[in-house]
Order: sequence, then structure tokens, then C-alpha cells
Amino acid sequence: MLYCPRCQILCKKGESRCPSCGSKKLRPVQPTDPILLLTASKQECARITTAFQDAEIPCTVRWPGSGGLMNLLGGTNRTADGRIFVPFSAISQCRRILQSIGALKAEDEKDSLSGRTGGSKGKEEPPVPMSRGKRTAVRIFSVILFIFLVWAVVNLADDLTDCIRNMLQITY
Ligand SMILES: [Zn+2]
Repeated sequence: MLYCPRCQILCKKGESRCPSCGSKKLRPVQPTDPILLLTASKQECARITTAFQDAEIPCTVRWPGSGGLMNLLGGTNRTADGRIFVPFSAISQCRRILQSIGALKAEDEKDSLSGRTGGSKGKEEPPVPMSRGKRTAVRIFSVILFIFLVWAVVNLADDLTDCIRNMLQITY
């Protein structure tokens, strides 16, 4: 398997360029190469790294540099996702751990909580399917929205042609 040392990701077999940065400087991966495993929120990172430490896997978490543009824009919380790196030799073990702690799925705090209390099956409620009345209401609403959109577009087009016509009359 090939490895991009710049992005620290694995590239698929047969790919001559890194899918992330386009670099051609790929080399065969070494067991000690750090691989970007996943990006996760602060809370999730703590949970994952604890699990890895329990399994004695050396992992590194990198955070986006402070004082960056996104921080200046006030997006600190949203962009402060940590990137977790693990050595290539441990990657399959890491994936298994992620699956066992439920971190490979979409992050869900309730999930992990109910998992901790042991009643993951009994306590979790499946998403309630929309009732028939609600579904009909949504359908009607989308139809109305669609009609309104068509009406708006037609009106706008009319206005636009009028406008253009006026302009042409003025110039000629
Ligand atoms: Zn790359």
C-alpha cells in the first residue's frame, strides 16, 4: 500500500497521486508511519484516545493551529476537531476498537451513555416514523412550496423580459 507522507494518509492501490493533495511523492507505507485515522470532536477524541491507551496503541492527536483564520472568524468550536493519528501497524486494531466503542458510526452521545449503563437494547428508542398525518402535511407543504417557486420564477422572468424590453426601447 502507498502512503502520502505529506497528508499522512494511505492511498489506494494503483493510485499514483495522493487523493487529498495530488502529490506524486508516494512511497510504500512503513509499519511506524502515522496514519490519519479519523477526525473527531474534542470529547470524542478524549474517548477514543483513552480507549487506544488502554490497548497500548501509541496515538497522536493534532489540533488545528490556534489563531488561524477560522478562529478569528469565531468558528472555534466548530473547527476545533482533532485529527487522530495511529501507526500503520495498529490501524486494523484501531478500527476494531473504534467499532467496539461506537466511534465509527456517526457520533452520538446518547448511544455511548446507554452503552455504558448496559441497557443499550432496552433503553434506545428507534426513531419514531412520521405519522401518516404528518407525512401528508409535509407533502402538501412541499407541493405548495413548489407551486410558489414556479410562480416566483415565472413572475421574475416576466419582470425581467419587461425590463429588458424597456431598456431596448430606450436605447433604440
Ligand atoms: Zn497527500
